[in-house]
Amino acid sequence: MRDLAALPKAHLHLHLTGGMRPSTLLELAEEQGRRLPEGLLRPGGLEGVSRRGWIKFQRLYDAARDLLRGPDDVTRVVREIAEDNAAAGAGWVEVQVDPSSYAAKLGGLNGAVEVVLAAMQAASAETGVGMALVVAANRTRHPGDAETLARVARRYAGQGVVGFGLSNDETRGDTAAFAKAFRIARDAGLAAVPHAGELRGPGSVRLALEHLGPTRLGHGVRAVEDPAVLDLLVERGVVLEVCPASNVALGVRGSVDEVPVLQLRAAGLEVALGADDPLVFRSGLLDQYAPYTREQQADLAASSIRGSLAPEEVKARLLDGVAAW
Ligand SMILES: [Zn+2]
Repeated sequence: MRDLAALPKAHLHLHLTGGMRPSTLLELAEEQGRRLPEGLLRPGGLEGVSRRGWIKFQRLYDAARDLLRGPDDVTRVVREIAEDNAAAGAGWVEVQVDPSSYAAKLGGLNGAVEVVLAAMQAASAETGVGMALVVAANRTRHPGDAETLARVARRYAGQGVVGFGLSNDETRGDTAAFAKAFRIARDAGLAAVPHAGELRGPGSVRLALEHLGPTRLGHGVRAVEDPAVLDLLVERGVVLEVCPASNVALGVRGSVDEVPVLQLRAAGLEVALGADDPLVFRSGLLDQYAPYTREQQADLAASSIRGSLAPEEVKARLLDGVAAW
């Protein structure tokens, strides 16, 4: 693993609360005298979550997020994400945040974005890891809320916000209804990076392609179930942020071996391995790379860097590092 940690990579699929250290979670719970749900207390792996699906996952995630009291806690989590990703060889990290989930504690939607951006800037300076923010809307809420968030994201385009996402329960919400929000974001020069093709199949990927104009997709792995959809992704050069531990924990695939990472690469797609929510899935960035051969690891790391929204000079430096590795 030490050698693998020296391989430069870009981490493109990570949610803020999901990136919290388990030790920090326990410390915050203790300080506040709060009880944590079963699956979050046990440091033993996936058994608290595995195969019980999204609802259980969301309950754990919300419980963890509730422990963040204000700017200091959020700033700490961002710094620890930078440190942990630096230790895993990530030279560039994009973190997804739904500002509406933090607005009450961070001074509104703009306040939430500003707290996270300031924390990222400080953490980058400390660790040398480049960080950027993806503002993510919630597909279970009204599309008008997403449009509001797209306008918030637009305010900070070029100041650390690089993309606009769509997250939460993929089985709910009407993808087409979010077209306007994504148009606002794309018109501001932000990359469209919605989740699609994890909890739902290739039809969901097709809807995202038709309505949201994605540069990348969160997950997208289930595109392999329909060759025509896979061809469309290749044709449009859409990058996939593939998170094997998430797919297994949520019961989308039976084991990591069944996540079609190599098949997607062989089809000609860029694939960026991501940990999604290491706090809940108890599986970090290096764990996602571990199952592959050295040659495949280098290929996947280079693919993640090419698929990132990092400035060109950062990409070039990291790619040089991969070649040297
Ligand atoms: Zn995700």
